[in-house]
Amino acid sequence: ASKQKPKHIKKLDNSVINRIAAGEIIHRPSNALKELLENSLDANASQIQVLAKDGGMKLLQIIDNGHGINREDLPLLCERFTTSKIQAYEDLEKISTYGFRGEALASISHVAHLSVITKTSDSSCAYKAKYIDGALSAGGSSEDSEPKPCAGNDGTQIIVENLFYNIPYRKQALKKTNEEYSRILDVVGKYAIHNAGVAMSCRKIGPKTIGNDVQTSKESSKPEIIRQIYGRSIADSLEKFEKDLSESVLATRFDGYASNGIFSCKKTTLLLFINNRLVENSSIRSSVEQLYSSTFPKSPKPFVYLSISIRPEYVDVNVHPTKKEVHFLNQDQIIIEVVNAIQQVLMHSNNSQVLTVQN
Ligand code: ADP
Ligand code: MG
Repeated sequence: ASKQKPKHIKKLDNSVINRIAAGEIIHRPSNALKELLENSLDANASQIQVLAKDGGMKLLQIIDNGHGINREDLPLLCERFTTSKIQAYEDLEKISTYGFRGEALASISHVAHLSVITKTSDSSCAYKAKYIDGALSAGGSSEDSEPKPCAGNDGTQIIVENLFYNIPYRKQALKKTNEEYSRILDVVGKYAIHNAGVAMSCRKIGPKTIGNDVQTSKESSKPEIIRQIYGRSIADSLEKFEKDLSESVLATRFDGYASNGIFSCKKTTLLLFINNRLVENSSIRSSVEQLYSSTFPKSPKPFVYLSISIRPEYVDVNVHPTKKEVHFLNQDQIIIEVVNAIQQVLMHSNNSQVLTVQN
């Protein structure tokens, strides 16, 4: 058989590269929302409002009262790998912001129509700009694409419309708008708990709109927000735990709330924040589940909110396109410490009559 001749290798067009990359970072509306929420928190906002239509597919809007964006930075805002948060690779070692890759807004602008209205405190007016495929765009109108002065409060409003308009199969796969909206609510709720002190709200536009689905105030405490979002029976069953090992070799500190054995959730709920990032970690999840099944006779499913702080140099945040996972040193020992701390409070909880601690 005659061999097929190899095709020539060619560099992809930038627009193709960027759309492929964007698809890796933004899988669904809740990924976009997480990025936008993190930007608002990075901008030191104390108030964040989220609005969604059709599960965020038609419209995702987020308004914050953070430090805003300088007028002269607007042309670069949605260009890939442009950021105000790091300058050198080494900065990643002591990163204290959520963002660092300058990819989120760029990615969104490659798979949706993005507009921004922003005002810094030293500017006399706000500016509005529209973006498509990484660059300022006139959005189909005959005007130029330059940012336009307009009225507005200090802070930033980002409007994302028609998500995946140019990726039909993905748009098709995300037709269950209720499910997408509940993922959005889930992200907002978890960040609201972790960032108690920042007033957050989330609601949807649509026929069944009845006020805010999440609404926290500046004064709400973590347990109060957990109560609002996960309900009374979970909130009433929570025990607080914490441990400071920052002086030890583990260089870690953690705290959180764990449900006692009285309340059994239908499924495990683990709200895990590592250095303030909402992440997943299957080892921590299974260790906590195992603790509950070996501690309580009825093997209840746990509800655990856990916030771990680790010396930034020990954490690798750049392992996943959506930053959904982070890697950290001494993972096994840290998990043992966490499980021990939760076990301690469960044993000493007032409701310990249900406990039959084994071994
Ligand atoms: P990154 O967060 O990794 O820097 P993004 O694409 O998410 O990248 O954002 C690019 C830049 O836009 C940020 O570095 C920041 O300077 C600015 N920015 C984005 N969102 C906001 C916001 N809500 N408030 C203030 N500045 C913002
Ligand atoms: Mg960001």
